[in-house]
Amino acid sequence: MKKVHIKSYGCQMNVYDGQRMADVLGQEGYVETATPEDADLILLNTCHIRERAAHKVYTELGKLRDLKRERKAQGQETTLVVAGCVAQAEGAEIQRRQPAVDLVVGPQTYHRLPALLAQAKAARVVDTELPPEDKFDHLPAPKPAAILARGVTAFVTVQEGCDKFCAFCVVPYTRGAEFSRPVAQILAETERLAAAGVQDVTLLGQNVNAYHGEGTDGRSWSLGRLMRRIAEIPGIARIRYTTSHPRDMDEELIGAHRELPQLMPFLHLPVQAGSDRILEAMNRKHTADAYRRLIDKIRAARPDIALSSDFIVGFPGESDADFEETLRLIGDVRFASAYSFKYSPRPGTPAAELTQQVPAQVMDERLQRLQALVEAHRQDFNRAMVGRRVEVLLERAGRHPGQLAGKTPYMQAVQIESTAQRIGDRVMVEIERAGSNSLFGRALERPELAA
Ligand code: SAM
Ligand code: SF4
Repeated sequence: MKKVHIKSYGCQMNVYDGQRMADVLGQEGYVETATPEDADLILLNTCHIRERAAHKVYTELGKLRDLKRERKAQGQETTLVVAGCVAQAEGAEIQRRQPAVDLVVGPQTYHRLPALLAQAKAARVVDTELPPEDKFDHLPAPKPAAILARGVTAFVTVQEGCDKFCAFCVVPYTRGAEFSRPVAQILAETERLAAAGVQDVTLLGQNVNAYHGEGTDGRSWSLGRLMRRIAEIPGIARIRYTTSHPRDMDEELIGAHRELPQLMPFLHLPVQAGSDRILEAMNRKHTADAYRRLIDKIRAARPDIALSSDFIVGFPGESDADFEETLRLIGDVRFASAYSFKYSPRPGTPAAELTQQVPAQVMDERLQRLQALVEAHRQDFNRAMVGRRVEVLLERAGRHPGQLAGKTPYMQAVQIESTAQRIGDRVMVEIERAGSNSLFGRALERPELAA
């Protein structure tokens, strides 16, 4: 039996792509292995968003070249594939820097993997084409057993690419223009997931709330409308979506937060910075106050919503005063969680040409202050759950024997001690304690669940 090891870096869309590539290779007789040492095919599904992410790929490829040599000495062949956004951005340069790579394949041609692998047997191959055909029409559907093995939660990519062109970001170049999958295709995929036991779906897109796919009536549907239809699929108890742009939070989407019980009260809405001067230089197309007003509107629709965001510190030209504005925005919104990054200049983006780069030490200090503030809010949010009863979807075994782990509707990790419950159960849990990364609670008896 042939074995494939897939390692995905970066965002959830890469996790989804990794699964779809595993489905394609499954048809070719490959089974997945968690270790590269026993793999006939090693596939790195890469991320180009920050310099460090791209750099990691070459370090990893150096190790894999050595592994390939060792396996060869033992009479075993290894095919080395680089997929994802570094593949798209750097193409043949990857094989120039690391000749052990057999195949470089961009995100839009994964459906061609079998043919490309056959070609790569004879000579090294690069395919970073943006093909006219829709890869989703050609990717095989996973078997129910494969879906179940991945758990009761699943990702479904509904949108790819981005037309926003934030000045710091490579996504519009690596993933191309915005594209929305047709509603019928998304429904068929989600129905298959639900039939296999998936209860929680996260709809993915680089700019997911710009979704405008062809509906079942031939018209363009918004994300809010799509989610209303997905909520009708039997078995789908929880819906989430990520990542969104503030400019694309339309009335229908905010209304869905008010009206759809399946739409979870959690929203990741990147703002990046709190200074209007910097937001403008970033080409974000919104001000800090517009973001605040938007949050007020979303909270009016769904008062208990947990908010999350992305921040960049040290964008070129960011002054101390600009950074204080970011802290002020964080203080006003009080996010339940957030990701934060030091600005990383990316080749080909307009911001990489800016001269007023912020010194590394200043960036470090700003990042630390920002993260300390976000962390304090996160802990407050988690501590406020103690004593409350929340529904938890049990997703996997916990850290210790007898423990099960799951998520609250607000995306918090929860551990419970239980022998009566199983993975896939949605149980009412009384939260007893908030740890630094997880909540701990007690599952209530079934009658209380019904109450
Ligand atoms: N589409 C999303 C959005 O609008 O924010 C997410 C795109 S990106 C995959 C995720 C995050 O990476 C961004 O929100 C941003 O905070 C961060 N990021 C993107 N480019 C960056 C760069 N050049 N340096 C540092 N962080 C960056
Ligand atoms: Fe990048 Fe997001 Fe801006 Fe698009 S909206 S350019 S993906 S940061």
